[in-house]
Amino acid sequence: MCESPTARTSCCALTDADLRGVYDRLVDVGMAAPGAELARDVVACPGADTCNLGVTQSRGLAEAIGESLEEAGLAETGGVRVNISGCTNSCGQHHVADIGFFGAERRAHGTSAPGYQMLLGGHLGDMQVDFGEKATKLPAKRAAEAVVRVVGRFAAEREAGEVFARWLARSGGARAVGETLADLDDLPAPDAAPDLYVDYGETGPYVAEIGESECAT
Ligand code: SF4
Repeated sequence: MCESPTARTSCCALTDADLRGVYDRLVDVGMAAPGAELARDVVACPGADTCNLGVTQSRGLAEAIGESLEEAGLAETGGVRVNISGCTNSCGQHHVADIGFFGAERRAHGTSAPGYQMLLGGHLGDMQVDFGEKATKLPAKRAAEAVVRVVGRFAAEREAGEVFARWLARSGGARAVGETLADLDDLPAPDAAPDLYVDYGETGPYVAEIGESECAT
């Protein structure tokens, strides 16, 4: 074990003989799947699962997005980062992601539903930061489909070497792309679409509860 930060480099250096053991440890904690820097590498804060400030289950949405991208054959698309926060705080760094979401309560038919605000075009560069701009609001259970559509368009329409932000600008910007997703921003009555009123990982109707505690991160 490292005893000091200055000793970290030399005492933690890995050799080829260590790799098998490291890989086995990553398998044990569910972190061995490849995909860093690809679309399937969705980042999420703890969300309402463990954070008292969270209003949505951001980790559940991250899992759903990963699965939907896999099913659509888009999981290995490079050059697009998806980040999710379970509330307006930015622990999931949604504001600097190509595709960002923050959790927000939706109201329809006199009741609450889990939802997200989708942002597009955030970017963390070496010399400047661009915050994502609002694209559309969505029911939580339709956010994964929105990601599949946007990533699908980006993969099909981008020019050689084109980054997401440039493609987005060429496509009319966040609001214009968001308008192509407007049909997903629909909340039928609860008896017609009960799943839209239950968040990921929950079994009962959605309730936007915020506790008196600090951020989980
Ligand atoms: S406070 Fe931070 S960790 Fe908690 S839900 Fe909001 S963004 Fe996520």
